[in-house]
Amino acid sequence: MLVKQEDIENIVKQVISNIKNSSKISTESSIGIFEDINDAIEAARVAQKIVKLMTIEQREAIIKKIREKTIENAKALAELGVEETGMGRVDHKILKHQLLADKTPGTEDIKTIAWSGDRGLTLVEMGPFGVIGSITPSTNPSETILCNSIGMIAAGNTVVFNPHPGAIKVSLMAVKIVNEASIEAGGPENIVTSIYHPTLESCNILMKHVDIALIAATGGPGVVTAALSSGKRAIGAGAGNPPVVVDETADIPKAAKDIIDGASFDNNLPCIAEKEVVAVKEIADELMYYMTENGAYEITSSEAVLLTRLVFTNNKGKLSLNRDWIGKDAYKILRALGKEAGEDIRCIIFKGPKDHPLIIEELMMPILGIVEVEDFEEAIEVAKFLEQGNRHSAHMHSGNIHNLTRLSREIDTAIFVKNAPSYAALGFGGEGYCTFTIASRTGEGLTSTKTFTKSRRCVLADGLSIR
Ligand code: NAD
Repeated sequence: MLVKQEDIENIVKQVISNIKNSSKISTESSIGIFEDINDAIEAARVAQKIVKLMTIEQREAIIKKIREKTIENAKALAELGVEETGMGRVDHKILKHQLLADKTPGTEDIKTIAWSGDRGLTLVEMGPFGVIGSITPSTNPSETILCNSIGMIAAGNTVVFNPHPGAIKVSLMAVKIVNEASIEAGGPENIVTSIYHPTLESCNILMKHVDIALIAATGGPGVVTAALSSGKRAIGAGAGNPPVVVDETADIPKAAKDIIDGASFDNNLPCIAEKEVVAVKEIADELMYYMTENGAYEITSSEAVLLTRLVFTNNKGKLSLNRDWIGKDAYKILRALGKEAGEDIRCIIFKGPKDHPLIIEELMMPILGIVEVEDFEEAIEVAKFLEQGNRHSAHMHSGNIHNLTRLSREIDTAIFVKNAPSYAALGFGGEGYCTFTIASRTGEGLTSTKTFTKSRRCVLADGLSIR
């Protein structure tokens, strides 16, 4: 059944009749934000009825507004994100928001497949799931909400977000931006919703709710396992510990610069960022020399022991990450160790064994351990050991195409960047689109609009084939 344009316009007008349009974010506004997760789900369900009736062109108008508002508010979001979470860098967070606004795919990502022949015409079209429940991290909070919103709304869904409590202010600011974009573009309010006080309990209600058709969980192993145990279809974007391998055929000065650029981006918060280096013995010292030429500070192995004590808490021999140091500036970490370090220091490096806690753990700090290996054969084994089967990201610098091919096959990760900083995988200094939800555990890889659709086959037998 075709819906008349006037009907859609009347519904939309009715919904927005009492809401004033504004091009700026009104901080008092609470559009889309509720006390109770059940109310947030109900509001998104009602909004999805409207979105379902909208044309692709109307959806695209909302996406365009979200992009514009993300750019307009990039600095404010970056500042609030750093202020609230105490993690990352304002300058890099601005770039992340600009990147997602420019390069997250919209409705053009949805493709129809057709078979036309003697027995008629068959189409497979991609439709919305309905209401998606999205759980978002503290490390890229507003980036994930805005990026998810673009892809999920472009696919025709509405979204209920359960953000990380430690990033609630900036997450809710992103939710408001999306709702204001929707209203300004003639769409409904509550196109995305959230709650003031997200908890594990609200997350569990969301995951189990009858009106939630799909779950997207972006975060560490706990949330991904919870999503996969929910009994619903779930997209699991989990943790990584990306190694970067450097062999003797690499352009060493370039590799050193690329690695420090990638590992220090937003103080190593991105899950794709280089988290440790596996370097062939022949070039390891040269590589470290060029790293120090590019803003790295080398510490000794005894200083690495002190650093371990600083960034881990020790509970009866069991080490756990001290979250106070996640995403902090390298020079601040060094000063806490009693070292003199200028603000131009971007990363801390040291040589260590593969099972060193600062190497095997996903730190999300600008700290890079360098594991020296005899040759490329050993590098493959060490890189696989460090990636720990997350199947998330790995990177390599080499001039040898056979080595590049070999590691990419053996390590089998969703992302494999060659001869560039890790962020090239997000379309930043590399080809391809952007996402902040990389479905490593469930295999969708870099999510985009099509990931948030379901497939529907439409068959007309013995007709409409005009060949
Ligand atoms: P986190 O796992 O602490 O939190 C992520 C979200 O899950 C939050 O909203 C949190 O409240 C919720 N959560 C955590 N445990 C839960 C549980 N048992 N049940 C229900 N909800 C739960 O992660 P973080 O520290 O905010 O983010 C960093 C982690 O996320 C890193 O491991 C990083 O690699 C990963 N990450 C992955 C991607 C990706 O695309 N694959 C993107 C960003 C971050």
